[in-house]
Amino acid sequence: MPRIARASIDQVQAAADMVEIVGQYTELRKAGANYSGRCPFHEERTPSFSVNPTEKLYYCFGCGAGGNLFGFVQEKESLDFAGAVEYLADRYGIALEYEETSARGDAERRRKERLRSLLEQATAYYERVLVDAKTAAPAREYLAARGLGEEVCRQFRLGYSLPGWDKLRDAARGHKFTDQDLLDAGLVVPGKQGRPYDRFRGRIMFPLADDRGRTLGFGARTMGDEKPKYLNSPETPLYHKSEAVFGLHAAKAAAAREDRVYVVEGYTDVLALVQAGVHNAVASMGTALTEQQLKRLARVTRNLYLCFDADAAGIGAMSRALTLGRKMGLSLHVVRVPDGLDPADYVLSGAGGDGFRALADDAQTLLQFHVRLALAAHDLDKPDGRARAFAQLRGVLSEAATPIERDEELRHIADRLQLSAESVRYLLAGSERSVEGGEAAAEGRREPPQGGGRAAAIGGVHELEVRFLASCLAQPAKGRAVLAGIDEGFFATRETRDALGSVKERLALDGPGKTVSAAEDAGVTAESGEVLAEIVVRAGREHFTANVVDELFLRLQEAQVGRLIARLKLTVQNDATGRQSKELASLQAAGRRLRDAIRAVPVDEEPHEGQGTN
Ligand SMILES: [Zn+2]
Repeated sequence: MPRIARASIDQVQAAADMVEIVGQYTELRKAGANYSGRCPFHEERTPSFSVNPTEKLYYCFGCGAGGNLFGFVQEKESLDFAGAVEYLADRYGIALEYEETSARGDAERRRKERLRSLLEQATAYYERVLVDAKTAAPAREYLAARGLGEEVCRQFRLGYSLPGWDKLRDAARGHKFTDQDLLDAGLVVPGKQGRPYDRFRGRIMFPLADDRGRTLGFGARTMGDEKPKYLNSPETPLYHKSEAVFGLHAAKAAAAREDRVYVVEGYTDVLALVQAGVHNAVASMGTALTEQQLKRLARVTRNLYLCFDADAAGIGAMSRALTLGRKMGLSLHVVRVPDGLDPADYVLSGAGGDGFRALADDAQTLLQFHVRLALAAHDLDKPDGRARAFAQLRGVLSEAATPIERDEELRHIADRLQLSAESVRYLLAGSERSVEGGEAAAEGRREPPQGGGRAAAIGGVHELEVRFLASCLAQPAKGRAVLAGIDEGFFATRETRDALGSVKERLALDGPGKTVSAAEDAGVTAESGEVLAEIVVRAGREHFTANVVDELFLRLQEAQVGRLIARLKLTVQNDATGRQSKELASLQAAGRRLRDAIRAVPVDEEPHEGQGTN
């Protein structure tokens, strides 16, 4: 990969609006020097997520997620560092410069750029054909008959491929693209006499785009009886079927805002829903959702509502997707559309977007879905059918996230079998152990990811060090004076040791609007970046006075002395020289002096904790 020039990275950092970027995923409100909102990395009701707009850093006090602008984009868009810089450059109209690198990486990058440009031109070409061409009239009529207006078709850039053998090929070659380009982009098929021909002929074209809306490939549908009904792009350097999710680009903002996404089967289902005002809808490519597709969706929201056909294939595929999603910690629901309608027909039949949302509110949870599936799979009138149903239900009930959910299902099962809830409970005894296991696993999933967990494990000292560094930033004059006398060795954890340099650097710059180049911070690891973000965000969030700086400094020294005492105590008995016991005594005396000093720090009028501005 070619390296992006440092000047370009700085340019992107300067141009990007952190609040706007984060605002795509969660609603932010101004809170003192920071902005705050509900964390886009974990589920919560009250906001514990803060953004520092000038430094372009974020930190969550709930789950410990934190970092800089580029780190945020990397996380949410699942990109590497260079990808995140490119994403932002694209968004803010900055032309990146690359450092000289390997010829091969360069060639590959240029190759992909060329394919992208070809696919963009092909998309525009198919679009024009659908709107203008006489031969596309049946396609226009087909879409109109399905109740899809021009506006929504334009929004998703629908197109039409003419029935000829080399219509697109001719058009592309007119734009100086070669047959090899066309082959690599999956737009033509190699012909027998070495003359490639158009892959897509006489079909409605649905562009399959990446998260940024750039076409990677196409799904193409016939209007008649030709086989196959759907024809997709082959695997190319840009298009990978297992990752494709139709409409995700358009659905992203609404899905993040409503914190849920509807996954439907057909492209036209997405269009019909969007037209009805349900913007957070995407289509899977077939019913079998892959792990990669679930990962793409999970970056936007963890609440997935599946609306698939209730035929055998649909149920099987949905069941697999539900199990896979559950392993990934996603919350999955099954939306049942009545009368065997697909979502498009349902909203167009008069139910509209509100009707669809009402259905979704009645969606079954994973557990409900599986319980009903198990009950439907066996002949409950026969004793052995019941026995088999119970055997299956035992496993199914271990999926319950909470005892309440389990109890509700027990009652449902009792109803269906016309038994008392108590007898069902008795018959299902033996599921209890696995149920507890299920709860523990569910509990484990809900634990905050690394950041918070790690900080908690290190304990109070880490928190103390972070708050101390934050207080130094908040009180620059005092902070500079105090930090001048200490070095990395003063801190107990590697992350705060790493962060010390960045804090000193920020203090050295001084003045309002101070910013540290992102490239300067580029050397910090993900962990220390998280801690640095926490420090900066805390500095703007808590009310730190000069006295607080003093107190935190003293408390840290006390903690350090405490660590030294603990270490000495381990070896002091084996020390015959008596030197260690003398040292121990003097450390203990120092500890006492520090505690006295802490008590002597004047108490400020205002409390210095709990002053968070959110
Ligand atoms: Zn969080």
